[in-house]
Amino acid sequence: MTVDPQNLKLPSELIPKDGRFGAGPSKVRQEQLSALANQNKFYLGTSHRQKPVKNEVAKLRQGLREFFQLPDDYEIILGNGGSTLFWDAAVFSIIQANAQFLSFGEFGAKFAASAKAATHLNSIEVIKSDPGTAPDFLPSSDFDIYATPHNETSTGVMKPVKRASDQGLFLIDATSAAAGALVAPEEFDCYYFAPQKSFGSEGGLFVALASPKLVEQIQKVKQSNRFIPPILDLSIALENSRLDQTYNTPSLSTIFLMREQVDWFNQNGGIKWTAARSKASSDHLYQWAENKNYLSPFVQDKSIRSTVIATIDFDKEIEADLVAKVLRANGIVDVEPYRKLGRNQLRIATFPAIELSDIQTLTAAIDWVVSQIH
Ligand SMILES: *Cc1c(COP(=O)(O)O)cnc(C)c1O
Repeated sequence: MTVDPQNLKLPSELIPKDGRFGAGPSKVRQEQLSALANQNKFYLGTSHRQKPVKNEVAKLRQGLREFFQLPDDYEIILGNGGSTLFWDAAVFSIIQANAQFLSFGEFGAKFAASAKAATHLNSIEVIKSDPGTAPDFLPSSDFDIYATPHNETSTGVMKPVKRASDQGLFLIDATSAAAGALVAPEEFDCYYFAPQKSFGSEGGLFVALASPKLVEQIQKVKQSNRFIPPILDLSIALENSRLDQTYNTPSLSTIFLMREQVDWFNQNGGIKWTAARSKASSDHLYQWAENKNYLSPFVQDKSIRSTVIATIDFDKEIEADLVAKVLRANGIVDVEPYRKLGRNQLRIATFPAIELSDIQTLTAAIDWVVSQIH
């Protein structure tokens, strides 16, 4: 049957209050925007080396420390460029020679590729597994750094954060997972992320939670003879972070929106509250998919199903792409799958700011669309 997606109008009770379900950038709450709009008219556009901006950075760092219940000797490093920049910063400023990477989707693969291409590094080992699964580290004395995503945003696989060895430093890409899943600081040396996913803010910033061993490593690499471009030099980022500023000019509105979100999280119970919200929403999606004969969760192993990104496969006679088009025409956006995965599926974010009631409305809306096009 051919259907013009523009002509299928969802009944009004099937339209979520907020139709943003994208894997990132993701829903920014109206309350965050209003708080920014309610600042005095001189709030933006002043020096980032002075009190008003430094106070905001300080509040963000303090809020994150409380949110993650960081031990006193862990530090919070922040800088411009998002998680993608952080990968290259790690290649120059953390990895001395040898590292082992887990690669089970687009994001893990990109970081590994960056390290492999770096001629100043020695031995980079990449352990791969198929999309929808996750591999394990194979620790050995050959490696001083181990790197993996916490949540592979392209596939919806979440690998619980756990040291595979008591030797070596563990670097965790938590760009999409951070805040949407529990994590214990003693299980990582570096847990880095950006504001536009589970923190429901704008992009452009990286935040890294750093253990004392990681800080030591950054200083050690700095003291070697390697040339480190200053923008990728984490010792410079650290120095600036300790002064509640960034090396170069940040977007104050990004910092403000994230600080608002972290305050909201903390006022409501912190990471236990946010992780439970994401879990409730993703549980609903997986259960729905298991109960419908035309759907199935893409990730078979329940223990690694993501709490922040649910990937749902459709039977081949129902075109997931067409479903996504109808939804988009009705203001429900960004549920398309990760293109390169090439599957007949929808990918739905369940970040903490997204309401369970909206996820429930979304699944009812999808059922309705399927009934109309099939
Ligand atoms: C989105 C994402 C990134 C890239 O983040 P940017 O801030 O856009 O650089 C990296 N890793 C993971 C796991 C992601 O989900």
